[in-house]
Amino acid sequence: MKTNYCGKLNINDLESEVELFGWIANKRKFKNQTFVDLRDSSGIVQLVFNSISDPLLTKESCLQIKGKVVKRLEANAELPSGEIEVLVDSYKILNSSKQIPFDINDNKENSANEDLRLEYRFLDIRNERILQNLKLRHKLSLYIRNFFDKNNFIEFETPILAKSTPEGARDYLVPTRKKGKFFALPQSPQLFKQLLMAGGVEKYFQIARVFRDEDLRKDRQPEFTQLDIELSFSNQEEIFSICENMWTEVLGKLGYQIESKFPRMDFGYAMKYYGTDKPDTRFEFLINDYSAQFKDKFGMEFVKAIIFDQDVTLHLKKIEEIFYKNSGEFFEVLDLSCATCHVGTALANEFEAGPQKKLYALIGAGNDEQVTLKALGAIRTLLNEIYQLADPKKLNFLWIINWPMFEFDKDENKYVSAHHPFTQFEEDTLKYLETNEYEKIKAKSYDLVLNGFELGSGSIRIHDLKTQELMFDILKISKKEQQERFGFFLKAFSYGLPPHCGIAFGLERVLMILTNSASIRDVIAFPKNAKGSDLLTLAPSEVTTEQLLEYNLEIKK
Ligand code: ASP
Repeated sequence: MKTNYCGKLNINDLESEVELFGWIANKRKFKNQTFVDLRDSSGIVQLVFNSISDPLLTKESCLQIKGKVVKRLEANAELPSGEIEVLVDSYKILNSSKQIPFDINDNKENSANEDLRLEYRFLDIRNERILQNLKLRHKLSLYIRNFFDKNNFIEFETPILAKSTPEGARDYLVPTRKKGKFFALPQSPQLFKQLLMAGGVEKYFQIARVFRDEDLRKDRQPEFTQLDIELSFSNQEEIFSICENMWTEVLGKLGYQIESKFPRMDFGYAMKYYGTDKPDTRFEFLINDYSAQFKDKFGMEFVKAIIFDQDVTLHLKKIEEIFYKNSGEFFEVLDLSCATCHVGTALANEFEAGPQKKLYALIGAGNDEQVTLKALGAIRTLLNEIYQLADPKKLNFLWIINWPMFEFDKDENKYVSAHHPFTQFEEDTLKYLETNEYEKIKAKSYDLVLNGFELGSGSIRIHDLKTQELMFDILKISKKEQQERFGFFLKAFSYGLPPHCGIAFGLERVLMILTNSASIRDVIAFPKNAKGSDLLTLAPSEVTTEQLLEYNLEIKK
């Protein structure tokens, strides 16, 4: 029987007879002795075998041993069990391992063989960093549940097989044997949590799995986990304070001390100075506006610049690439310490640049202000990646408030919700409906940003039928479609739906930031790869003709 965990053995266990189970993390063979690092879920201990030569004792084989704890001649300060080792009396190979396809102990992020690691994810989870991430994930969920329970919130499960919830992504559809009828996997529990408010629940939360078929990025997966929250008879101040208390308590338990009040920033301010709705406030280099001074020089309406203090010309190609990828119109870099042109000397004077104070102006110009800002915002993010401007130990939470209600979707040639269509209007901006100035209509919505990532969004909800119908009308959702898609939900508006509000956070994003991971794949036990495929099970995959027949489906040739 297992008597101890490998990683927990220490000097207090000296002389104990122990029985251990684990995997061979490493093996070093000397003339008369073989040293093995035995790893279990708790960590590593060093084993010493006297004169063995067993071909089955390969790396990553599963092993059972009996032995005695003794003091090491030379302690290894890096290992918690580093002061001791175990002299093996007897052993049994429980399952010998074939040659492993990659180095499990390699903690290098972004390692080139990620696809191979995902194919053998069960081996990859033996990697200490991945396992630690997953343990942290467990603790995070546990502390979140404890917090909400203590504060009288109730966790509900909402359906996975249901109807489409509009969150701006494509749905994953599930065919059924009812001809032509599909379920849609939830993009969020949005409509159900609002119906729970109609059901008188008052305080709801859920650690919910949600599904969105959209372009993947390092912080996106087709299925991910949201901490979903909704409450009745509340307001923005209360929900902010609940979230601030929750993150302070939960992160505190995980060993991170944060400011318990989060700063707030207007959406408009974030766009103007950071060129993004999710600013990373851990470093400066904000965007300055020079439109009035230089628009004639550039022959464009808007001229904006980031003044930077390192030689960006070394990375010019990358910087230009990101600018134009974000639809920026015109970009140039001026070395202000030796500028000769009018713009360069004017900026050099303003910032007192010279041979002693090297400065570079990264200038973006264009006729669409938002596009120019976003392109420079993308450069600011890239500068942080290149020059490591932000302190990685900092956790900068930030509320973004005063959002516009609508965005114009050029592809669809119509206005769409910036958040989702259940968000309450900022009443005094409704007057812009009459003048068709939809961009000026504001929403009662808010985002929480952490270190430049959108951690969560939420809003005060519409709770009267007239306003909800008005919203659908603006979004050009016909009455018929309103009934077909949302009829079940709209019913509640006629039966005492209370005022309510809520928010949802992406749990993996928090974990990705806390663990400094390069991708959210590193905090998910069985993730999809960057192209959205599960390389372990090889899903998605084809189905048989019989299955297709059962579902009344046919694959087009
Ligand atoms: N359902 C929203 C989302 O997933 C969050 C919310 O409004 O509560 O972004």
